[in-house]
Amino acid sequence: MSTIDFDRLSADKQGGLVPAIVQDADTLRVLMLGYMDRTALATTQATGQVTFFSRSRGTQWTKGETSGHTLALVSIQADCDSDTLLVLARPQGPTCHLGRASCFPSAPADTIAALDARVAARERERPADSYTTRLFEGGVRGIAQKVGEEGVETALAGVVQDDAALLGESADLVFHLLVLLRARGLGWADVARTLAMRAR
Ligand code: AMP
Ligand code: ZN
Ligand code: ZN
Ligand code: ZN
Repeated sequence: MSTIDFDRLSADKQGGLVPAIVQDADTLRVLMLGYMDRTALATTQATGQVTFFSRSRGTQWTKGETSGHTLALVSIQADCDSDTLLVLARPQGPTCHLGRASCFPSAPADTIAALDARVAARERERPADSYTTRLFEGGVRGIAQKVGEEGVETALAGVVQDDAALLGESADLVFHLLVLLRARGLGWADVARTLAMRAR
């Protein structure tokens, strides 16, 4: 992970503080905005737990220190003119102290990235009574067959005038595709990278 040197940031104009936008590394949802001073940034990078400077309390504040709702650091980058940070993190529980995932009530998430993260969690945790767990336990060939079936159903729905059917089959196809990728140790981010290379 690239590290950020506080001395390269323009914090002087901002009273020694730099705003930090926190985004969920998996769903890409914007979670909250906080401020970091030199020590908060150093603590964040040293411990991997996102830490701010609380302007109201005037102290360093590791997110989740009382609630347990921490933010595990994934990456940090500075913006174009080095006066704002973008932090990608994995939240443990709701980030907002009102109990919501995000401090912005309807902050959008990347639906496919969020579904991919849920599929990955199912594969790790294998909860009982989960259709996704059953798919994983059935193995790659069975999952691949489901993708084939949903692909055919999507194609058939595409040639009749029934939008609901096409949307439903498309959703089935995307879900089973994510399960197939995960069963092969791949994720949506890998597909996105492939698409990005083609777009160049
Ligand atoms: P926590 O850091 O989750 O242990 O919460 C400690 C205190 O920090 C809370 O009581 C709030 O005052 C404040 N706080 C927690 N999360 C947020 C947030 N996302 N935005 C603003 N303040 C927060
Ligand atoms: Zn800027
Ligand atoms: Zn909040
Ligand atoms: Zn279907």
